[in-house]
Amino acid sequence: MVSPRHVPDAPGGLRYCRECHAFIPVDRFYNGRRRYICKSHFSVKLAKIDKTIMDKSVTNDKPVMDVRRVWRYFWLDSKACFGQKKVGMTTNEVHQLFDRKNLIPGVEWRLVPLDPVGEWGVGNMTIVSKAARKSLVRVYSNEGVNSYKAMLNTVVAA
Ligand SMILES: [Zn+2]
Repeated sequence: MVSPRHVPDAPGGLRYCRECHAFIPVDRFYNGRRRYICKSHFSVKLAKIDKTIMDKSVTNDKPVMDVRRVWRYFWLDSKACFGQKKVGMTTNEVHQLFDRKNLIPGVEWRLVPLDPVGEWGVGNMTIVSKAARKSLVRVYSNEGVNSYKAMLNTVVAA
């Protein structure tokens, strides 16, 4: 069985959703880049992750909430853009990553993998700007892992 991560689009405007486990029309995916899950499955995942975040104690601590937001974007990217099933990184680890880089957590930052096809833990993650993340995701989708890594070298924050 082929890995769903590498299933190419089928003729007739069909794309594989790794949650539907089937080819479905491309217009049932979000636009703009290669996606691994369809809109409905994306919504399900979004609701699930929002519940996870809301179930934690609500706080007025801005850095804490910003770390959670950054983690949420990261988690969604891992599923929808990079086709990962499992992500081994906690919000605490995200906080440590910002500390190590001497950056204040904020939603102008995004987390991306150093190696998208390696293990998705904190050791494989880095911080880039929101704009850089957008380009990186596009390059990964359209040109693959080597172009992604080449671009990443030019955009990594501090
Ligand atoms: Zn689906």
